[in-house]
Parts: sequence; structure tokens; C-alpha cells
Amino acid sequence: MDGVSAMDDEQTAGTPVKRGRGRAVWIAGAAALAVVAGGVTYGVAGRDETPKVTAGLSETPSVTESVSAELLAEQKMLAGIDATLKGRAAALVAGKLSQFLAFSDVKNAKLVQRDTQLFENLRKLGVRQVGYVRVPTFSPEQRPKLGPTARALRIRMLVQITGIDSAPRVTQLGHTFALRGDRWVVVDNDDVESADRSDSREPWELGPIEVARGRGVLVVSSPGEAENGRRLVKEAEAAVPAVRAATKRAQAGILVVAMADRKSWDASQITGGHPAGAVAIPNFTPTNADASEFKVTGSRVVINPTYRKTADRFLLAHEFTHAAMSPLGEGAPIWLVEGYAEYVERHLMERNNYSQWVAGERRDLRKKAIKSLVVLPIDGVFHGDFDEDSYGVAWLIVEYLVDKYGLATLNALYVDMAKQLDDPALRDKTLTKHLKVTEPALVAALKKYTGPS
Ligand SMILES: [Zn+2]
Repeated sequence: MDGVSAMDDEQTAGTPVKRGRGRAVWIAGAAALAVVAGGVTYGVAGRDETPKVTAGLSETPSVTESVSAELLAEQKMLAGIDATLKGRAAALVAGKLSQFLAFSDVKNAKLVQRDTQLFENLRKLGVRQVGYVRVPTFSPEQRPKLGPTARALRIRMLVQITGIDSAPRVTQLGHTFALRGDRWVVVDNDDVESADRSDSREPWELGPIEVARGRGVLVVSSPGEAENGRRLVKEAEAAVPAVRAATKRAQAGILVVAMADRKSWDASQITGGHPAGAVAIPNFTPTNADASEFKVTGSRVVINPTYRKTADRFLLAHEFTHAAMSPLGEGAPIWLVEGYAEYVERHLMERNNYSQWVAGERRDLRKKAIKSLVVLPIDGVFHGDFDEDSYGVAWLIVEYLVDKYGLATLNALYVDMAKQLDDPALRDKTLTKHLKVTEPALVAALKKYTGPS
């Protein structure tokens, strides 16, 4: 789809104004990575002290009988919990609600209701793979309020949405289990403390959902907002070709979250002091069995609830560009990351009857921000007080590079920078390798540049 068929919507939408959106993507990505990658070492302050229960234990003579009994009891408990997690995951994939609920605390009506909703939501989205991996370094914590046997654990949930995700995506959860008869059942499916999560939640954890599908896109919205979901599918289908044409990459499928619930949105996603309109949040896929090491296999796009009804193909083209580039690594400077996303977005705007508006923006930036430019925007101050100008300047740098060197060179530069460390000396070297100029020469050329021919 070339985006032309839905153009009427755009024309009635009026002239674009500075939309209250930032695009904090690798900032968001880096934060998420820290949380997840932090899983390898978290809990060092007391929580990692579970003695290793191994087969060789009985050969250690210094272990007293009581300690040994305790360890064996814990080993038995963990095996029971693992069986419960396995049973729940299998039930989700097979679509067997009764089997899924067989591992929930039947005495807790609220929990059963929440678990039923979770099950129905995931079935509605369509899951190719679901897994729960208990974090082995996390010591079970007692939850006396939930009963004498209740234990909270940190769990990594892996979800691969059919036709969207190329690989399972990890989410960190906290679950509390208690012994009922000979079975460990879930008595709390959202133990915040053990999960160490932010306030935001997965879209399927937030009550009933509406799902709209398009080619390579799936939009999750809130009940009663199915129409907006379908609108966003069209906008997304108009954005994808623009992203693919520039980057020569695109995800096979992308999940867009556009819910009314504030909890679908991580409030920490702000740039330059104002909330972002949407963010591309990397999908981390485990690369080892206990899900402690990850790689980025794609991204989902989460729209700020405030802007869910006005988010358009331009915003989505920006975020989809981040999504397309994020598996390459996170070493690229922010001016390149944001400048490229802005470039794809503005280029699409020009082809959707906004070329005059884009030209005006370009003129304004040339008059002020570009004139005072001394060096390429530095990562540390990019999302600071000069947020709006940072994005604009970054856009013009990339536009200049595309005009002068071509998209293939820009993409090659991006690939190289993304995979290296964010070290200024390395970046200089890579810049010179691809563009045959130094940074000062590039800045000087940019100042003389009058815009695309
Ligand atoms: Zn961005």
C-alpha cells in the first residue's frame, strides 16, 4: 500500500503542528536493556544466596542433616513450581482454559478472573510460543499474607505472537505460588516486589482488549476503541513501505499498542521534559536456556494513551524506523538514530501533501539551529533543553547525508556505528571511513547546504 488511498483522512486532519511527541527510542531501549540485562546480576544484596542444590550435595559431609532437609524441600518446591509454569504455558498455547486455571488458586475469585482475562487476551492475539522461565538466581521470598507456604519468585515470560514476532519476547514478572494439596498454584500473578517491574504492564495484563490486524501489523486497543485500532492498522500499512524503502529493512510483523489505560505506557518515556508520543521498545529474546542473556529481535511500538486517537502514519513511520534499525545494535549516535527516523517521517510527509510544511521547518532550522552548530549533536545533551531543535538538526544532517552520499552509504554508516561502542573516537573513524570527511568538515558543509535539490 502506498499510503495514497488513505490520504483524504490526512487532508481533513489539517496542517500538522508540533505534535507533543518525543521519540526517546534508544533511551527507552537502553533502559529496558538495563532492566533485562541487569537480571544476570540482580539480587546480589541478599537475594542471590540460595545455596546451589546440586546432585553432588550428599557428598558434602559438612552439610548438616537439617540444612540438607531444607534444601531438599526447596528443591522439591522449585520442581513443583516449574511444573506449574510448564503446565500454564502449555495450556496457553493449546488454548485449554481449564488446564490453565488448574494452576490458579480457585479460592481467589479475583485472581481467577484476571487469569481468565489474561488467557483470553493471549488467545485473541494468537500465540505461537509461550514460556515461563523461573529466574534461578532469585531466592524465593515468603509472602505470609498469602499463606504459610506462599513464595514469590521472579519469572521471565516469553511470548511469541503469531505472525508478528520472529522470536519470543521476554517480560519480567513476579508470581507468588502456594501449595494446594500436592500442587503449587499461582496465588498472585503480579507480585511487583519480586518482579522489580516499572508501573507499566503488558497489554494483555490490562483487562479486555480489542485486536485489529493488517498486513504485518497487529494493533491492540481498549474496549470500545476497535475503530481506532482499525484506523491505526491503515496508518501502519501506509508507514511500512516508507520505512522499507529507506532502510531496506523492516520487521516481518509489528505489534502496536494503542490503549486508553495509562498503565500500557511507561511514564518514564519522556524526552526533553515532555512525554513522548510513542516509543519503539526493543523486543529482547533470550539467547540461553535460563533466559539471562538477550539479543534484540525487533521492537513493538507503544503509543502514549494521550495521543492514541491522533497518532498517524508519520509518527508510526518514525517509530517503525527505530524498530527496523534496533536489531543492528545500540552504538549509533543519537543524532543518527533520531535523524534517520525524522528523515523517514518527513520524507513520507512530503509525499502526503505536507511538503510546504516540511519546507518551512527546514527553513526555520537553517536560520537558527544550523547556523549555530559547531559539532554534531552530542548524545549527552540531545534530549535536554534543546529537544525540538536537536531532532530538527538531526533530521537535516541525515537529509544532507542522503542527498549527498545516498541511502546506501547512510545505511552502511548506520550498520557500522550501531554495532560499535558509543565511543567518540570510534565514531569519528567510522564517519571518515564512509563519508571521507572529518566531523568539522561535515559540519561546515552542512552549514553551506541549502536543501535537497
Ligand atoms: Zn525517535
